Amino acid sequence: MATITYRNASCIYEGSDKLAVDSLNLDIADGEFVVLVGPSGSGKSTALRMLAGLEDIDEGNIEIGGRDMVGVPSKDRDIAMVFQNYALYPNKTVAENMGFALKLRGVGSAERRKKVEEAAKLLDLTDFLDRKPAKLSGGQRQRVAMGRAIVREPQVFCMDEPLSNLDAKLRVQTRTQIAALQRRLGTTTVYVTHDQVEAMTMGDRVAVLRNGKLQQFASPNELYDKPANSFVAGFIGSPAMNLMTVPVAADGVRVGENQTLQLERDQLALLADADLKEVTIGVRPEQLELSDTEGLEVVVDLVEDLGSEAFVYTHAGAGVQLVARSDPRTAPKLAQTVRLRKHPHGVVHLFHPQTGERIG
Ligand code: ADP
Repeated sequence: MATITYRNASCIYEGSDKLAVDSLNLDIADGEFVVLVGPSGSGKSTALRMLAGLEDIDEGNIEIGGRDMVGVPSKDRDIAMVFQNYALYPNKTVAENMGFALKLRGVGSAERRKKVEEAAKLLDLTDFLDRKPAKLSGGQRQRVAMGRAIVREPQVFCMDEPLSNLDAKLRVQTRTQIAALQRRLGTTTVYVTHDQVEAMTMGDRVAVLRNGKLQQFASPNELYDKPANSFVAGFIGSPAMNLMTVPVAADGVRVGENQTLQLERDQLALLADADLKEVTIGVRPEQLELSDTEGLEVVVDLVEDLGSEAFVYTHAGAGVQLVARSDPRTAPKLAQTVRLRKHPHGVVHLFHPQTGERIG
């Protein structure tokens, strides 16, 4: 087990004029499960591959257990990777696949068998040890790939979209299993995904990346409750947070034509301090509710009924769109005019209209 530190770590691909990972700083605790998340091309895989020794650290450094990894070959870093493509040997059995790295290391067959059997037990693969990968389901193959990493007892697991090849239901099951297994083994893990739900449900902490730059590194709750900027605010949560840039008024912000969303006094003070004429506001759909008597007047464009809940897509004048969660049984009808107000425990987030940084 080990701590991991990225210190101003950067990577630039040959022939590119842009850093794929730009001065990344992360302090990862021993035994922690950290998820790197962001849209495609944000630098997640590159950041992971730099840790694994598969891409160069062009500037800065990465330490594992306090040891500088610059120039250390991948095989000497004591890490195990699990990829999206499991890359199992088709002609080897499950047991042989899982034990192969140990065999290369010169571990004797009795010891190998013992380690493979222990891992198989953890992963519910005991009955499949003599099978070839072609005779396994997708979920079982994924578990063999995990098993192969576990038997090596590395200091660090590096996982790059390991669930992408599974169907939706299996992904949900497997993500719970992987998170539970990691906690049991206590091995420091860095896990890459583009799926914010996966990030939020699996990580002790989540690092959100965009264009190679770290946006925020925090617990799932903190990302949700206090996004550092409007990008994180819009990326974390589904449906996405309602975000719009609107004029500041005396008692709140102007929304749509001549409507005001009132703000708390301390938020008004923050806006006055920042001397802003406009501000980007954010409200989560689940923190808006329909009301008969008060709130913003909006027109319903679409109702998405999911059975347990419904999402009501609305607009209030040109350019102002708001999504609100509602009870599907009382959801309004298309084209109906309704009122939306902030839930009593709801929050209006304020972001700088140009930089996107959180104001309050
Ligand atoms: P992510 O994992 O978030 O999708 P990547 O780390 O794969 O992002 O990519 C980060 C950036 O580096 C992107 O702009 C991508 O186009 C570029 N990139 C990735 N791999 C290579 C490569 N082998 N050669 C050149 N550019 C690359």
